[in-house]
Amino acid sequence: MSFILCYDVLMDEHSDQADWTAVWGEHLTAIACEACNSTFLLEQPPSNCPYCGQKSIAPLANEAMHLAHTQPPELTIPFLIKEEQVAQKLQAFSKRFWFAPSDMTLAHLRERTRPFFLPMWLVDSDATAQWGAEMGFDYDVVSHREKYRSGKWETEQIIRTQIRWEARVGTVERRYDNHPAPALEEHDALRQKIGAFKSRHARPFSPNDIKGRAIRLPDRAPEDAWTEAEASIKTAAIDQCRQASAAEHIRDFKWAAQFSNKEWTQLLLPVYTTYYQDDDGRTHPLIIHGQNGRLHGMRRASSKKAKRWSITIAAIALLTLCLSMIVGAISLAAEEAILPFAVIIFFGGMIIAMAALIPFIIVWYVNSKSEKE
Ligand SMILES: [Zn+2]
Repeated sequence: MSFILCYDVLMDEHSDQADWTAVWGEHLTAIACEACNSTFLLEQPPSNCPYCGQKSIAPLANEAMHLAHTQPPELTIPFLIKEEQVAQKLQAFSKRFWFAPSDMTLAHLRERTRPFFLPMWLVDSDATAQWGAEMGFDYDVVSHREKYRSGKWETEQIIRTQIRWEARVGTVERRYDNHPAPALEEHDALRQKIGAFKSRHARPFSPNDIKGRAIRLPDRAPEDAWTEAEASIKTAAIDQCRQASAAEHIRDFKWAAQFSNKEWTQLLLPVYTTYYQDDDGRTHPLIIHGQNGRLHGMRRASSKKAKRWSITIAAIALLTLCLSMIVGAISLAAEEAILPFAVIIFFGGMIIAMAALIPFIIVWYVNSKSEKE
């Protein structure tokens, strides 16, 4: 098994993270998975990849000291979904499912369930900028309307809130802390599948957070993630400039910012992973959001089971058709009165023969629906 590709992607000659074990923990081992092209830190190298469930994993012994993205974790979002709730989700996933693969049992899914952390970048940066914007200030316009009611005139006061826009300019010189940016290339795809993570639940990282849990390392360089982090900083700056101007609204914000002293750390996002194998031996991973409990995974119905059912139904159809032939032959030779029974049995046999297609239609429907999802 070759891991040259993984190694080339992840090695970074200029990495200054060689002493990462001091921050993450001496007890952790680095492994790589060739199937999903990921690297992980965990206590004991497992037999299957903790993320995709495949067996394509290998420990990174000497290379581990030179991993590219081992910047220290700063914040952790704790698991809000407990393992009992995960079991309920898995039960719902594997239940009421025709022609489910033999390996897709609740017991197997539970046994392979692993609490797991995905990475997100956090960046701190100094920013110096000249900015300009239009600030909006609310003011009330009072008017009066005369109404004739119950034989007399009444005056009704009407208050309408309007916005007064004023051009403002200023400077910003401050440090921005913990602005997030995706650390995985698949971050957006994953968010669409299981939903976003709420960082308001984040708390300072503690080594206990990762005890017995696997951690996936970033596969996206900080330079690539900077665009999103900068957008987050700009959003914060817009609000701060609005507050500093005591305005209710802001528009046409422009700034020319210089950033310096960037420091990259990580935010750990909680998920559970598990997997099953379909009847063709292919591994299918499942992932469960550690905050909202949403599960994503592909449901694959077993074409082998469908085939067995179809053969059984076809055999019954064949026997029924043979019986109709026998009854028909007897009716022609001896007892004409039983001819209608032969016809009924014949049509019954034809219906059963057509039903032999149903298992294949169900498997096709389940698999194509799952692929679309
Ligand atoms: Zn993998």
